[in-house]
Amino acid sequence: MKLKIIKDSNPLMRNPSAEVPLPLSNEDRELLDAMLEHLKLSQDEDYAKKHNIRAGVGLAAVQVGILKRMFVVYYHDEEGKEISYQIVNPKIIETSVKKCALSGGEGCLSVDEPHEGLTHRYFKINMEAFDALQNKKIHIVARGYDAVVLQHEYDHLDGKFFYDRIDKNNPMKQLDGEVLL
Ligand code: ZN
Repeated sequence: MKLKIIKDSNPLMRNPSAEVPLPLSNEDRELLDAMLEHLKLSQDEDYAKKHNIRAGVGLAAVQVGILKRMFVVYYHDEEGKEISYQIVNPKIIETSVKKCALSGGEGCLSVDEPHEGLTHRYFKINMEAFDALQNKKIHIVARGYDAVVLQHEYDHLDGKFFYDRIDKNNPMKQLDGEVLL
């Protein structure tokens, strides 16, 4: 399955995505597999250069034009541990008071223009979802960078972009007690 990533200029991306019926259809599984494959390949420098694609760590179904509450993440954390999910119908059931932001700002495969500033996120979240990779309902307690990635992808399901959370009047202003990552 060849995926075409749509950009933030496409109004479709502002729509909320719909809950996905479970058990998953074969079509939805194939889409999740293709999305995960895309991320893995995007991190292969030679492949990415040859096919003119950017490296990403997360991708939501809406970014390939499908308004379903599904996203995939794929990266290796600081300790080299592989983080890989095929998330369906996620719910954020708990958030910390503590906030965080990536000091260098966030990026998005659907956003070409730079948007400088801090995207304010919860430092810790508890997310409940169906994970198609493990084929079961899971709870993820994520902190720091892991929590940022999940919140970024979750936002896509509600039609939001990372730059919506940047304070236009004071883009680099740190919140009280906010951790910069
Ligand atoms: Zn994004």
